Amino acid sequence: MILSLDQGTTSSRAILFDRDGRPKAIAQKEFTQHFPKPGWVEHDPHEIWASQVGVAAEALGRAGVAPAQVHAVGITNQRETVVMWDRRSGEPIANAIVWQDRRTADVCDRLKADGVEAEVQRRTGLVIDPYFSATKIAWLLEHTPGARTLAGAGHLAFGTVDSWLVWRLTGGTCHITDASNASRTLLFNIHSGDWDDELLRIFGVPRSVLPSVRASSESYGLCAASTGLGSIPIGSVIGDQQAALFGQLCTKPGLAKNTYGTGCFLLQHIGATPKSSTHRLLTTVAWRIGSRLEYALEGSVFIGGAVVQWVRDGLRFIRSAPEIEALAATVPDNGGVYLVPAFAGLGAPYWDAHARGAIVGLTRGSTAAHIARAALESIAFQVADLLDAVEADADLALDELRVDGGAAQNDLLLQLQADLLGVPVVRPRVTETTALGAAYLAGLATGFWPSTAALEHQWQVERRFEPRMETAEVERLRSGWRDAIARVRSG
Ligand code: ADP
Repeated sequence: MILSLDQGTTSSRAILFDRDGRPKAIAQKEFTQHFPKPGWVEHDPHEIWASQVGVAAEALGRAGVAPAQVHAVGITNQRETVVMWDRRSGEPIANAIVWQDRRTADVCDRLKADGVEAEVQRRTGLVIDPYFSATKIAWLLEHTPGARTLAGAGHLAFGTVDSWLVWRLTGGTCHITDASNASRTLLFNIHSGDWDDELLRIFGVPRSVLPSVRASSESYGLCAASTGLGSIPIGSVIGDQQAALFGQLCTKPGLAKNTYGTGCFLLQHIGATPKSSTHRLLTTVAWRIGSRLEYALEGSVFIGGAVVQWVRDGLRFIRSAPEIEALAATVPDNGGVYLVPAFAGLGAPYWDAHARGAIVGLTRGSTAAHIARAALESIAFQVADLLDAVEADADLALDELRVDGGAAQNDLLLQLQADLLGVPVVRPRVTETTALGAAYLAGLATGFWPSTAALEHQWQVERRFEPRMETAEVERLRSGWRDAIARVRSG
């Protein structure tokens, strides 16, 4: 079996996969979110580690599998989050600053005002935003007493969560990251495939703190005896969205997946040449296998499945998220009602931090069912907007969209998605695609599976949603959505 460690933003999970790529045991533990000030989000690195190693042991226990029976460990993780620790003691110098944390917004505004964004974008494929790691590293160096001195003496280590886990798993002997995680830091040049001196200068990060950048699929080292995981080889490290792309076997140019979780993350594989976006998407490393880098275009929506939570908790129209499907199905259409869930601004392709949500088109005949339907439709409209941008940028038409995440259990949503896109939407049998992607890469690195081609036989469709709506109706709906978006934009 392969043991996959999926270190997410709110919980740590461990899943054991067998040779057919089927999940055999799962364990999961939530951990504490710290909000020390408005806009700040932190995690305790010790708690990340303890929860992760704890669920690993629990999954093994549930399956009745000894560490010696596990072929390799794969690691996938929340991206961009920053951990810094003293190499000598392994002790973190502060809490981890989480990707959602906005404390460096002013620094980012200043950098943009200095006019460096175009150059940064050219090298990294990203935009300057507090979301990414670089300004968080600089913040910790600036605000933690003694940190600059420690860095100067070569004692300080930075890592995204993958690096921290590998460091702990190997008993402090291995300080590495993979190219997919590195590509989210703003310090990594996606063309050369390595840290970039000019970016290090712009963001004020010393090279001495950085991990070495490795492939996403290779044997980095063995788990230390102290972890209780025997001496299992660690065979993969990959960011969560890229892992899902691999878990969906989107390994050829043009193949794309969307994850419908709290937010939505759409990634399209674009091959071995990075293309920069002219539609405000990100260019990101999908993975590095051997010395070959492959790339993806990425668009994200902040409020995806979360709009369903709002219908449940804010409006109290339903008691559980799945109930939205039955409620929305009590009306034949949205009755002209559109809901724009810009609760936290709008993400790609709009990037409007100041936009706020709205419900438009209400009449005396509008009911809770129309609003529920509009909420569900808003997820599909946002993903359709992302896909338009991806197709325009990549100049590649999509054959189908592979889907996963909690809200992908909703058939009504997926049917509407297929209708709006005009291409089939495909839900695989195994929807644990993030953990599966990390397992695949670890298994490929260690000979558990012979080749990616061999995995293609494993990926099975659970249901395929074919587009069936009339073009005129699609156009009418999308134009209603565009009007609604225009009303909430701040600019
Ligand atoms: P994350 O990994 O981001 O925490 P998940 O992939 O677990 O998210 O998905 C959870 C999200 O999916 C929640 O926002 C929830 O409202 C939504 N969700 C779960 N089931 C359904 C459903 N049947 N229909 C619509 N939304 C759903």
